[in-house]
Amino acid sequence: MAHDFDAEQKRYLEGFSHGIAAVRMTGGLAAGGGTAAAPSEPTGPDAIHIKAQDRTVAAGGKLAEQEKWKRAENPFEGHNRLITEAATGKAPKPEDNFRWRYHGLFWVAPAQNSYMCRLRIPNGILHHWQFAGIADLADAHGGGYSHVTTRANLQVREIAPEHGQPFLDGLIDLGLTARGSGADNIRNVTGSPTAGIDAQELLDTRPLAKSWHNWIINDRSLYGLPRKFNVAFDGGGVMPVLEETNDVGFQAIEVLEGAGVEPGVWMRLVLGGISGHRDLARDTGVVLRPADCNAVADAIIRVFIENGDRTNRNKSRMKYVLDAWGFDKYLAAVEEKLGRKLDRVDPAHVAPRKATDRFAHVGVHRQVQPGLNWIGVVLPVGKMTTDQMRALAEISRECGDGQIRLTVWQNFLLSGVPDATVAEVEARVAALGLTTQASSIRAGLVACTGNRGCKFAASDTKGHALKIADHVEATVTELDVPVNVHLTGCHHSCAQHYIGDIGLIGAKVVVSEEGDTVEGYDIVVGGGFADNPKIGTEIWKAVKAEDCPGRVETLLRDYLDHRTGQDESFQA
Ligand code: SF4
Repeated sequence: MAHDFDAEQKRYLEGFSHGIAAVRMTGGLAAGGGTAAAPSEPTGPDAIHIKAQDRTVAAGGKLAEQEKWKRAENPFEGHNRLITEAATGKAPKPEDNFRWRYHGLFWVAPAQNSYMCRLRIPNGILHHWQFAGIADLADAHGGGYSHVTTRANLQVREIAPEHGQPFLDGLIDLGLTARGSGADNIRNVTGSPTAGIDAQELLDTRPLAKSWHNWIINDRSLYGLPRKFNVAFDGGGVMPVLEETNDVGFQAIEVLEGAGVEPGVWMRLVLGGISGHRDLARDTGVVLRPADCNAVADAIIRVFIENGDRTNRNKSRMKYVLDAWGFDKYLAAVEEKLGRKLDRVDPAHVAPRKATDRFAHVGVHRQVQPGLNWIGVVLPVGKMTTDQMRALAEISRECGDGQIRLTVWQNFLLSGVPDATVAEVEARVAALGLTTQASSIRAGLVACTGNRGCKFAASDTKGHALKIADHVEATVTELDVPVNVHLTGCHHSCAQHYIGDIGLIGAKVVVSEEGDTVEGYDIVVGGGFADNPKIGTEIWKAVKAEDCPGRVETLLRDYLDHRTGQDESFQA
């Protein structure tokens, strides 16, 4: 049944500024951008990109195909043509598939002959009526379900070509946008899921995540980077937000006396995380006031825009500029853009970060507000039906604070639940076929879309993840610590297999002399995050998917047999 909107929604929407008109209005095609007459010097919001492309070509470089597509027709200029062509029901050409991603739509054939829409949800937090409204849109235009992603976001699939634009229009009605959620743009802004309700946090990340979200969606010069870009805010709370896997991570820290700056809560800047390329973000030594995060992130990105590789898509992330230059040179360029020096603090003058809890996203946890709780609901590798979504929205409205908080662990929290109502929420969640409790293996089970919906996948990651969990629950009953098992379908590493205790990356396994293949995985162990950030080490190549549950069991038994105590991680 469709959800009815109420006065609460109307109040929210009155104050909502989605910035779409602003982006298009400030956009006039700059010189060299395609059809406009070309003055000698590029101007306008695309100029920074065009100049970088021109420098690449002048230096003898050959622009990547995607750079040529951006230059031939900026995706924002092409919007109305894309609508018209999609309305014919035809699949988009490759260059238009790339351009549509600026608007949040991904053509995912041959896995599914349809669009997937990836939203933007700053800090992962939705109002109950937005959650229900997305369910209605998924029914009207998509496949009747959605997935929670590893960037605390939602994806809706099976959107027919002619339904793409109506789906995007529907998001506007909900005060949401999908703008810039794909292609070479700054992705969904993540923040601590327990922001504002966590007794341990140093800082509420919600205003920072929202402010940065609005900053980037309203400035066309911040679209069309050399490659995608991730930014995350960690408030120092109990739940990891995986900022170390982002290009830019801001970590709330407590700076002590004698550091050379005023003691108190600052944001530490970490740079260069990209786990699929086996790198985690590292401390730059820079600390900044929370109010300065936007300006500093903006300067970091503009240095990247001007200097990132536009010829080789495998080397075009910011990490490779950092590798070539080193942190000192990169930060000097950032300071030049800002017109001022950044503050630096010796780590010896920073209080240690309080420990995170790997189970904080599952089950019942006390909020900092007396008598209130957050309840983590487990989703089978991130999937929910639209009926479940509407019912969950009702539970949030009737029993909680009306907010649904998505996490990077592919699940969500219902927040603001009074002590007296916890049992009712758990029972209502169970009646939907979901649970608020998870075994050690299921709490840390993460899987990307896999070959059921992504053309890059070598294997059915979500299906195999559930088989691994079933097998481990049945065979390793003595497992008494949370374990992260991450399955990713290809080198894009959306499920971040390198930071799992056990990580699996899809691989085709040759099973005959004729070259026949079956689905399988390469397996890594010993990755980590938050308190123990580490890139895992590959131990097996090309393991058939049917053998993976047994291999995971072997690794877990080995760990249990040799550990010195429950505190010992897989990395030891
Ligand atoms: Fe697709 Fe690869 Fe991302 Fe999995 S990791 S969703 S297969 S792009």
